[in-house]
Amino acid sequence: MYLACPNRCSTNRFELWNASVFVDSSGRYLEYRLIDAPLYRCTECGSPAVDLGAVGDVMAEDRLAEESPAREFACPSCEELFSAPKEQAVVVCPACGQTFPVAEA
Ligand SMILES: [Zn+2]
Ligand SMILES: [Zn+2]
Repeated sequence: MYLACPNRCSTNRFELWNASVFVDSSGRYLEYRLIDAPLYRCTECGSPAVDLGAVGDVMAEDRLAEESPAREFACPSCEELFSAPKEQAVVVCPACGQTFPVAEA
């Protein structure tokens, strides 16, 4: 996780926003309830912080998808299964040489 304020405040202090922290009558810490998607906000301007770490994960996934653009095809003529780059509009079956158009995925 790498939190950042969308307004680029330089304080880099964030407050846990929607988590529940329980204390007893004398204010002693009792329990912290973990939630699925903790939200943080900038203590300087109050804006919801963005998690740049999560953005990095998404970008890594996108890169992964770009690096393996192959797609599986089944030849309509001989039913041979093979893979070809998915950007191709027409593919040629490596087994029988049949050319067929690619349906939009
Ligand atoms: Zn801020
Ligand atoms: Zn074929």
